[in-house]
Amino acid sequence: MYQDLKNKVAVVTGGSKGIGNAIVKRFGQEQMSVVINYNGDQESAQKAAVDVKVSGGKAVVVKADVATEEGNAAILKAALDNFGDLDIWVNNAGMEIKKPTHEVSLADWNKVISVNQTGVFLGSKIAINYFKSHHKPGNIINMSSVHEKIPWPTFASYASAKGGVKLFTETIAMEYAKEGIRVNAIGPGAINTPINAKKFADKQQYDQTVSMVPMNRIGKPEEVAAGAAWLASSESSYVTGTTLFIDGGMTLYPAFMDGKG
Ligand code: NAD
Repeated sequence: MYQDLKNKVAVVTGGSKGIGNAIVKRFGQEQMSVVINYNGDQESAQKAAVDVKVSGGKAVVVKADVATEEGNAAILKAALDNFGDLDIWVNNAGMEIKKPTHEVSLADWNKVISVNQTGVFLGSKIAINYFKSHHKPGNIINMSSVHEKIPWPTFASYASAKGGVKLFTETIAMEYAKEGIRVNAIGPGAINTPINAKKFADKQQYDQTVSMVPMNRIGKPEEVAAGAAWLASSESSYVTGTTLFIDGGMTLYPAFMDGKG
């Protein structure tokens, strides 16, 4: 628990499922006021709101597409209408499309870039405008991936978007540092969420993924949420422009394990 997070207002995009859902619940345990954005799954978003309230926090759900300006405006409006302020904005929403690159349609490419990269730009922009116009320090957390660093054949759009999120995070962290706005990214490795459900249901694919993790296991969404809570809190007050990898060592070139190579 981080005492300074109590009563802070946080937006979490894509908060109905997976990592976003775990962050929402963790923020609830920190007794924060949480705006839970969802795009499709209203029932899970409402369930997450109940979880936050049971933990002693406050919550509101808002349906919005993060790839649009109107969507991000609706999310900010929900924060201001319900809680009167904004302290932390977590750009978590994301999606991926697996296809050999020579077969990727322009529509699929644009979809992945618009949610994973443009969505992060739009969310950050609206949050920064709010922080600046209210002369308050703010905190932005962008959900990147180990694939901001590790190439991923058949996921070129996703890896491109996450690589973009890395440099976008670093750039705006520098651009707004003097105004007290901190911007960081989180780079999860293989985490047990709906995005991986089909893959992890296949034992061969599950074992193959585990073999790429030095810690020899798949991560839990709560382990990513713990990093988000730390980055949101003042315990990380001198941290900006960095990616916190939460990946069981996946970015450490596991092919070299046991002195191979
Ligand atoms: P998930 O599929 O379980 O959840 C993604 C969430 O984003 C869902 O709630 C979905 O509705 C929402 N979303 C998608 N498009 C949206 C849009 N246009 N507007 C609003 N919401 C939208 O996936 P997850 O694993 O929880 O992923 C969360 C984030 O973590 C993503 O950015 C993902 O790229 C990243 N990530 C996940 C892993 C992993 O192993 N699970 C690894 C690295 C990075």
